Amino acid sequence: MAALEIVLVPALSDNYVYLAHDADTGDTAVVDPAEAEPVLAALKGRGWTLTHILNTHHHMDHVGGNQELKAVYGCPIIGPRAETGRIAGMDVLVSEGDSYAVGTQTAKVIEVPGHTTGHIAFHFATSDALFCGDTLFVLGCGRMFEGNPPGFWDSLCKLRALPDSTRIYCGHEYTQSNARFALSVDPDNAALKAQSAEIDRLRAAGKPTIPGLLGPEKATNPFLRADDPAMQAAIGMTGANPSDVFAEIRKRKDNF
Ligand code: ZN
Ligand code: FE
Repeated sequence: MAALEIVLVPALSDNYVYLAHDADTGDTAVVDPAEAEPVLAALKGRGWTLTHILNTHHHMDHVGGNQELKAVYGCPIIGPRAETGRIAGMDVLVSEGDSYAVGTQTAKVIEVPGHTTGHIAFHFATSDALFCGDTLFVLGCGRMFEGNPPGFWDSLCKLRALPDSTRIYCGHEYTQSNARFALSVDPDNAALKAQSAEIDRLRAAGKPTIPGLLGPEKATNPFLRADDPAMQAAIGMTGANPSDVFAEIRKRKDNF
């Protein structure tokens, strides 16, 4: 049983769409198809047939290619039960704790409200892959459009509890600007400085910063560290409630 082969498909201006291919069965899922065109090209180039469309949340830059891909391949759309009515044509509704198989690989569904109220993530444990949409970014997190700080912080804690070896496949290439912000609130963090230098090197070479790795992110991503005394001290909130610390960091990022 081989792990999923995951292909990054850049779309729109800074989205990443993912193909997750199970070599044992030939099943291929697309995660958050922003648009159909680049996905069709990536499938064609590899001779793969699309069998599943997975959505993390209802935003257009994550579902825009759904209908065209479904029309071409006749495959089901799987998405959050809590966003019923907000994503057209969903065939399979999933919620917290559900399992969903792509070939031999099975995702656990994790509800992660905050960016949107019904946002979900798909965790393929045996492939060490997390598809987290706009909830968690490398060195960042999504904007809090629909949620509240305690809920968003709780969502991030659920993702943080996954194994350190988990690879983060997020919805956007926002890493370099996230790094600049992270350094602005946590300038003395040596691990963050090293990660930021590596990110600059990757971007200068025109390479993606995705996937991130969850283990190191626990020490560098400010949004995963609202309960970390060093992070709290760095922003002058020692001993504060973690969700208040999260809210403050999120507010600073919104104004950065
Ligand atoms: Zn979004
Ligand atoms: Fe997005």
